[in-house]
Amino acid sequence: MIKVIIAGFKGRMGSAAVKMVQEDESLELVALVDPKTSETAVDGIPVFNDKLSLVGFDADVWADFTIPAVAFENTKFALENHFCPVVGTTGFTESQISELISLSQVNKVGGLIAPNFAIGAILLMEFAQKAAQYFPDVEIIELHHDNKQDAPSGTAIKTAELIKEKRSFKKQGAADEVETMAGARGAEFDGMRIHSVRLPGLVAHQEVIFGAKGEGLTIRHDSYDRVSFMGGVNVGIKKVVEIDTLVYGLDHLL
Ligand code: NAP
Repeated sequence: MIKVIIAGFKGRMGSAAVKMVQEDESLELVALVDPKTSETAVDGIPVFNDKLSLVGFDADVWADFTIPAVAFENTKFALENHFCPVVGTTGFTESQISELISLSQVNKVGGLIAPNFAIGAILLMEFAQKAAQYFPDVEIIELHHDNKQDAPSGTAIKTAELIKEKRSFKKQGAADEVETMAGARGAEFDGMRIHSVRLPGLVAHQEVIFGAKGEGLTIRHDSYDRVSFMGGVNVGIKKVVEIDTLVYGLDHLL
């Protein structure tokens, strides 16, 4: 049995993760974390307001679906206390990820930060990286619900990073292009553009659009329901306990 703590258990992702863990007989939900709730237990599982109350707690995995402002400290706490982190929360900077990887290696604790747990999104990133070898002209459009706190999405950043590994550098658009309205061309990453759309009704969607002379290629993924992420979270929980470093991206564990 892998003993799991879930931080952010009342949120959209956290509550889906609670259900997934409870439905898997090889996983045991041992603690829940939320800073504001007055509940002390849910279905017999203890609820903690402060992560420091979990120092020395008997658990294997810290699953984190909280908010960008606390996810870094939560992940550090998990690594320092030998709970393997499985982090879905997005908004980490590159230097925070490097710091957490180093800490995991010093403490010999496995972990995962996954900007997207959906298998279709992992495939989209892989296909986009492949296409970028042939199509250096690319723009990323990510579309999410309007409660998302960070922009661009972690998936868009990871996609851009993967594309950068294979794409010959190119500054997208006309050399003399001018924005008559700030932000019209989106964020810039290594010469390519990333656009963030926020609308109620959406869950998590992304298009990677390639253009070339006389042809175009669009790769699109849609998460219509948060259940789409739970297969990946399940894999992450089961794999992190077998490794001794933190990895960034579910693709490292598939
Ligand atoms: P959400 O519904 O707003 O849930 C976030 C939860 O975290 C809330 O219940 C919030 O409680 C709680 N929280 C805030 N501070 C906390 C703390 N210090 N300790 C424990 N819990 C805390 O958001 P969501 O849609 O579930 O998304 C959560 C994160 O997952 C976001 O960063 C999102 O971008 C990411 N996400 C990742 C994936 C993926 O595949 N990796 C997919 C979808 C979403 P209060 O409301 O009481 O403050």
